[in-house]
Amino acid sequence: MAKHIAIAIAAHPDDIEFYMAGTLLLLKEAGWEIHYLNVASGNCGSAERNPVKTRITRMREARRAAAMLGATWHPSLCDDLEILYEMERLRHLAGVIREVQPAVVLTHSPQDYMEDHTNTCRLAVTAAFARGMPNFRTVPARRAIGNEVTVYHAMPHGLCDDLRRRIVPEIFVDTTSVRDAKRAALGCHRSQKEWLDASQGMDSYLRSMDALSLTVGKMSRGFKHAEGWRRHSHLGFCAEDTDPLRAALRKRYQLNPQYTA
Ligand SMILES: [Zn+2]
Repeated sequence: MAKHIAIAIAAHPDDIEFYMAGTLLLLKEAGWEIHYLNVASGNCGSAERNPVKTRITRMREARRAAAMLGATWHPSLCDDLEILYEMERLRHLAGVIREVQPAVVLTHSPQDYMEDHTNTCRLAVTAAFARGMPNFRTVPARRAIGNEVTVYHAMPHGLCDDLRRRIVPEIFVDTTSVRDAKRAALGCHRSQKEWLDASQGMDSYLRSMDALSLTVGKMSRGFKHAEGWRRHSHLGFCAEDTDPLRAALRKRYQLNPQYTA
């Protein structure tokens, strides 16, 4: 049986908190070991501080947030807007997958508002796919692993793809009980408050996070706060009916009948 280990792989420091941390916290409560990786350093996330200072600040914030979530922190692989679908990143990320041996990978939506997110998704999916291929070389070199992995995609920013079309969740996860803990983790990214207020017109990032989970909660017609997910094809990853989130989260997991319809 696969070990109860999950890894969240996001693009930027604070993306995990916005889209995935509620589900991670619930997995942790269910006895799972959880891991936290932002592919990019967040070095562009400031209009006042230079990239070196910003990178250091955001790494400290992310480490604090990961500690608050009870997650193992993994270092970033590159800077913002440098998340390209290319071999160096893929070898590094596949190395992390082989080291962590997750049964669950949580990552961005294949459709999202900017390419750091969509490229992170593509890299995470292929890194998981390559876990068991002995002839694929990772950096650092790690032996191929045999376990099943199930990949889940978070909701895109704004709940729409890059062409403004609505994305509907397949799965709702009830994050109401962990809402405060999720907010506290997001609050660790203090440098982002001013930046997001100025650059993206977000009145407050904490309020934006709540608005998102309340909207997804409303879509679920049952949960107050929720995170939405779509399960990746099982082909090359796990058995067709393998759905560890359902098994682990039980009554906090609900399928969306609209999705398959
Ligand atoms: Zn992001």
